[in-house]
Amino acid sequence: MAERDFTRTSFEEHLAEGYLMGVRCRSCGALSAVPRPLCPACRVEDLEWVELSGRGVVEGFTVIHVPPTPLAAAGFGRDNPYASAVVRLAEGPWITAQLVGVDPKRPESIRVGLKVRAEVIHQGEAARLAFRPED
Ligand SMILES: [Zn+2]
Repeated sequence: MAERDFTRTSFEEHLAEGYLMGVRCRSCGALSAVPRPLCPACRVEDLEWVELSGRGVVEGFTVIHVPPTPLAAAGFGRDNPYASAVVRLAEGPWITAQLVGVDPKRPESIRVGLKVRAEVIHQGEAARLAFRPED
């Protein structure tokens, strides 16, 4: 796999290929699931992509009624809300993504500590990350 820039675009290209990739600092080892051009811990640019397991735990969530453009295009909105969660990945870093396989109109059915697994949602040529509760 060719080394790509450490950007959101590259992150989404990896997703479209079926990989959840994080960024690791070769200097201090800090791992981030949100790509940044610099290591957030030691500020160096010596980074590499690493594949993440996609397993994690919900640390917080909210129900979104006014979605950003890609989710509005997918049919979400005031009458069709979706859940968005902050997920702490098994490898340590956190990431925010849509939570699927839950009922956003019954937020009491979603809880902090819920074990989830990453899933890629393909929308045209784009791909976005989601998490689904593990059975
Ligand atoms: Zn570092």
